[in-house]
Amino acid sequence: MKMTLEERYQKKFSTSKVWFDKGKSLFAGGITHQTRFTSPFPPYFERAMGAFKYDVDGNEIIDYVMGNGSLLMGHSPSEVTAAVNDQSSEGTHLGGASTHEIKYAEAVKRLMPSMERVRFTSSGTESTYLAIRLARAFTGKNKIVKFHEHFHGWHDYVTPQSGQSLGGIPKEVLGTVIVSPVDSARVEKILSEDNDIAAVIIESNGAHYGTFPLSNPTFLENLRLITAKHNVVFIMDEVITGFRLSAGGAQGRWDLEPDLTTVAKIVAGGQPGAAVGGRAEIMELMAFRDDEDWDTLGRVPQGGTYNAAPISAAAGIATLEAIATGKVNEKADTMANRLKDGLNDSFMKNEVMGHAHGISSIIHINMGLTCNCDRNLCSMPYEDIYRTMTPDKITGMRRAMLVNGVDMMGGRAFLVSSAHNEGIIDRTIDAFSESLNNLREDGVL
Ligand code: PLP
Repeated sequence: MKMTLEERYQKKFSTSKVWFDKGKSLFAGGITHQTRFTSPFPPYFERAMGAFKYDVDGNEIIDYVMGNGSLLMGHSPSEVTAAVNDQSSEGTHLGGASTHEIKYAEAVKRLMPSMERVRFTSSGTESTYLAIRLARAFTGKNKIVKFHEHFHGWHDYVTPQSGQSLGGIPKEVLGTVIVSPVDSARVEKILSEDNDIAAVIIESNGAHYGTFPLSNPTFLENLRLITAKHNVVFIMDEVITGFRLSAGGAQGRWDLEPDLTTVAKIVAGGQPGAAVGGRAEIMELMAFRDDEDWDTLGRVPQGGTYNAAPISAAAGIATLEAIATGKVNEKADTMANRLKDGLNDSFMKNEVMGHAHGISSIIHINMGLTCNCDRNLCSMPYEDIYRTMTPDKITGMRRAMLVNGVDMMGGRAFLVSSAHNEGIIDRTIDAFSESLNNLREDGVL
């Protein structure tokens, strides 16, 4: 009798199961990040290079998780590795201001000039936390508006309606977060009726890295106008889109000027690191003024042992310099387009309802419904997108693709890098065709 996908998975990744059993006695839930679990257990990886990663069973897997979106140049690109290696023997924490932070901020500003001032943090979560704190201090108001399903990290103020649970978050905090549908008329209404709103924050390419696309650039342009009209701080969260949608991020691609921007992931070239930047008059609320009242009471505080740590700075500078040439994004985007076309052919040839869509180097799939969008910014109603993303389909697709040698982002997306080439993309498309057949045989499709 033919093995089911689960049986094939258990067999192919049998040594990973042993590691997962160890992990269960060490970590809550056996894992170290809420999205790292996959049923029946996650594969355990040991090393990676270029577009590939290698697991404890010796399987070579084509990677489209790419460091949760951090690795636009693939795993361990030579220029970034060299910069990191050089710095690691020159001090990893200089315990004070450093020349590295200056060069790092210059490299960021060069690609995102809306950042008149920059502050580094260690993660995207810290960056959105700091941006919201700055917006409150600047406006003297308390609430923030975010959008349904939009993800900005895991601190209390951005967790509501982000696809995460709410355990441990104070009710008082929940009362300061207004969740709006993706509809600029509704945002305008909220800002007109509530005089206590400090900021509007948005995932610049739509919830969950573009799973629920925005009609851009119109939607972002409208938000820019509405927030300016109501004196509310407009925060573009570019943690995913930064340096990917163009060398200058979503704002560079669509010529937008937010008040504040948050970046992470690519900005630190695969090392821990992130930043916040924007209008000088907002950012300068963090500066000391030689005025005791201000310095001890009014000033916006920020700590962070590893802010602009030299190794993160070295990796970030090497990455941003490569991106500034334009070649990295061009290659990643070209490969992503090839992948998107191949996936759409595959849906057609296998007579499975569904399609691939996406812009730049992020490709999403929607399975089980037809849609006649332009395959760039999918216009499928959000309720229908939910219906294409049922857990059996997502889990099934991730499992099928892993069995066929490919790791997707969450079972519904591909984050493409400049390390992917034509041959690797074509292997991925074959694996996808095979996975569609496997899922049909298993009764999932
Ligand atoms: N904002 C967005 C848009 C993200 O996608 C993420 C993480 O995936 C974050 C913020 C949080 O970043 P981090 O995981 O570095 O805390």
